Amino acid sequence: MSYPLKHLAIDTVNRVKEVHKTAGGKGLNVSRVISLMGRDLLATGILGGHFGAYIEARLDDDQIKHDFSHIDQESRNSIAILHDGGNQTEILEAGPTLTSTDATNFLKHYQKLLTQVSLVTMSGSLPGGLEPDFYAKMIQLAHQAGVAVLLDTSGASLKAALESDAKPNLIKPNEAEISQLLGQQVDGHDLASLKQALQAPIFTGVDWIVVSLGAAGAVAKHGDHYYQATIPKIKVVSPVGSGDSTLAGLAMALEAKKPDQQVLQTGMTTGMLNTMEAPTGFINPNLFDQYFAKVNVQAI
Ligand code: ATP
Repeated sequence: MSYPLKHLAIDTVNRVKEVHKTAGGKGLNVSRVISLMGRDLLATGILGGHFGAYIEARLDDDQIKHDFSHIDQESRNSIAILHDGGNQTEILEAGPTLTSTDATNFLKHYQKLLTQVSLVTMSGSLPGGLEPDFYAKMIQLAHQAGVAVLLDTSGASLKAALESDAKPNLIKPNEAEISQLLGQQVDGHDLASLKQALQAPIFTGVDWIVVSLGAAGAVAKHGDHYYQATIPKIKVVSPVGSGDSTLAGLAMALEAKKPDQQVLQTGMTTGMLNTMEAPTGFINPNLFDQYFAKVNVQAI
């Protein structure tokens, strides 16, 4: 839920005139962008209660196909207060803690869906109650079904996936996430040190690593090939959800088996288009071709 306020007053009542309630979250941002680009997709995850039903109704409104696993508890609500000329104060619920039955039910549901898809993107932190290796388990099941996985998470769950035998096919850390993962500050503007960071043993077996660098574009590694993607200067309205939008573009291009340069061009374009719109995880697909042509990808 997003509450725009001219000024946020503390310890008193704030009245909001214009409330935006959307089906949010990183995975649904990815889904929305893919859907806006006119590509077929199925959104899944774990939902419950009135908020869960509300999310499904909003996805129906946006004609985003979905098939969720349901739990008895209420899905979480997240509040973003946009105030005082560009400040964003967020109140994020922790969300339900899942039981082992919830986890097993979801995995069964997910395995069924794996027979219908050719690629999976996984985004965000794990719900409470799941072990950090839950994404690693999901990747293993995907690979058993011959399905590639793009993983956009951070911290312990990313580390567990990279340390497991079933590696994600692509990860998309930003500068902060790759620094956290390697336990050292990686400077996104220093190409040589970034290239060296991408050779760290923890990335062995991961086909694609795309380090997104905000307005500076991205630096990526695919197998033994290294690339730098640069993007034009654009008028940014809201960059929130750009990483998710980039993942959507990367997924679409990889699924369509595009060459490396175009994979990165597509991801950069959907990321940029998101920054040009106020809603999170939203793009104007009519601008795609124009901005795609302005992304420069070079081997480094
Ligand atoms: P978030 O967590 O907000 O979703 P992120 O940190 O994962 O984002 P970023 O690296 O900030 O991801 O952005 C992803 C891509 O979106 C960039 O590689 C770029 O293509 C585009 N982008 C982001 N910020 C800007 C910007 N200020 N100007 C132009 N393009 C941008």
